[in-house]
Amino acid sequence: MSLTELSITELHSRLARREVSALEVARAHLDRIEALDPMTVRAMLTVTRDHAERQARAADARLTAGETAPLLGIPVVLKDVLTTRGIRTTAGSKILERFVPLEDGTITQRLAEAGTIMLGKSNMDEFAMGSSTENSSFFPTRNPWDLDRVPGGSSGGSAAAVGAEFAPFSLGTDTGGSIRQPGALCGVIGFKPTYGRVSRYGLIAFASSLDQIGPFTRTVEDCALVMNAIAGHDPCDSTSLQAPVPDYTAALQKEPSLKGVRLALPREYFDVEGMEPGVEAAVKAAINQLESLGAELGEVSLPHTRYGLATYYLIAPAECSANLARYDGVKYSLSIREPGAGLWDVYERSRGEGFGREVKRRVILGTYALSSGYYDAYYLKAQKVRTLIKQDFDSVFEHYDAVVGPTSPTVAFPIGAKTQDPLAMYLNDLFTIPTSLAGLPGISVPAGLSNGLPVGLQIIGKALDESGVLRIAHAFEQSTHWHTLRSPIAQMDAATARSA
Ligand code: GLN
Repeated sequence: MSLTELSITELHSRLARREVSALEVARAHLDRIEALDPMTVRAMLTVTRDHAERQARAADARLTAGETAPLLGIPVVLKDVLTTRGIRTTAGSKILERFVPLEDGTITQRLAEAGTIMLGKSNMDEFAMGSSTENSSFFPTRNPWDLDRVPGGSSGGSAAAVGAEFAPFSLGTDTGGSIRQPGALCGVIGFKPTYGRVSRYGLIAFASSLDQIGPFTRTVEDCALVMNAIAGHDPCDSTSLQAPVPDYTAALQKEPSLKGVRLALPREYFDVEGMEPGVEAAVKAAINQLESLGAELGEVSLPHTRYGLATYYLIAPAECSANLARYDGVKYSLSIREPGAGLWDVYERSRGEGFGREVKRRVILGTYALSSGYYDAYYLKAQKVRTLIKQDFDSVFEHYDAVVGPTSPTVAFPIGAKTQDPLAMYLNDLFTIPTSLAGLPGISVPAGLSNGLPVGLQIIGKALDESGVLRIAHAFEQSTHWHTLRSPIAQMDAATARSA
């Protein structure tokens, strides 16, 4: 088995036994990225070989000194919305094309302290707005299962990197589905923790009341290990939660069993218009599997689900219009200054050329929703509906431990299929947006194929019950083989690619 096929736990045991060095592990992944990525998925915006080799040497020194921390020497790819000191951080936008942060974000720093090796920064929809990674200002990323299809988004580069075996794990961000949906479409695990569980300090903001960082991995156990490293309070993020962090691996059982676990199936997540029959069939089979593991199932209603998209597309644009006001052509990166131009011209030209269409659409929508006269009718109303959506979940959780359903209504769609129709693109997040509005943890686990493409099962838990979600996901994973299926790009080795 080559090093790039291995999970975090497998790499860890080889590193800890000193069968392989962190430098060898890092180089195997970097070589694979350099040989395969440019001509296949294009997951990466920046590859940081020198930085990675430096970190790998430091990890080897720690390993030699007898340290055996679980992520020591493990490679990672970061979504290019997480700030990295001295390394360009673009948020997928031309307006930040040359932005080099002066500091690491909290999570970048925590991963570095844990001994991970950062291989580079991954492609994404501009400012995390999108569901396909086609809104990147630079180029679209492709799906490792079919290069003519999208990897999902907005964290498409991070999901594709794990699905193509460029890294055993990566980080993404999820505001309305951007970890879970690309996780589902690329056949990997994608986990959005409870809002506030992971620090957002140093994360370039899209919609601050929704944004949350989380991992992509190829096994649930790996996901738990990453969560152990990134979860927890941070005084630099005022919305970060004070709650103690359990050992997430402790929740995982050797023998998969869901005896006594009560799972709710929301009526609104099944038999809906636009849902692909193959996805529905795979998810129903997954639910039968959960039942055969001992789970008790019950049908429930989340009646305000139908207002989820409308609510999200008022709140998220409103927040983004405020957050993106700082990119004015004076501070940060892109600044277009013609000789003799006034300040207003600088604003107009820099924003006009620096921001893409979707970002402009949302800034305009959000500014409108916040303007006096419309604030009450749109923004305030959306906030009230947000509370109702959260209450739907609260009442279900009085009787159930978790909610299960599909992650996304379809499998990966062809590149270009939805770029002309924003509404069709927004519909991808039908099942992920309510969770985000309610601030709850949600995971997508590989649960089968439809037309040869991966389908994700979504498991949504109570606030701060990451352990419960991981336990259910793990039991499902251990009793199925879906997570062991490898994408065609994952099966392509770097040597063959070079000679092709
Ligand atoms: N696809 C959704 C949007 O475009 C969600 C994005 C996200 O979670 N960052 O806003």
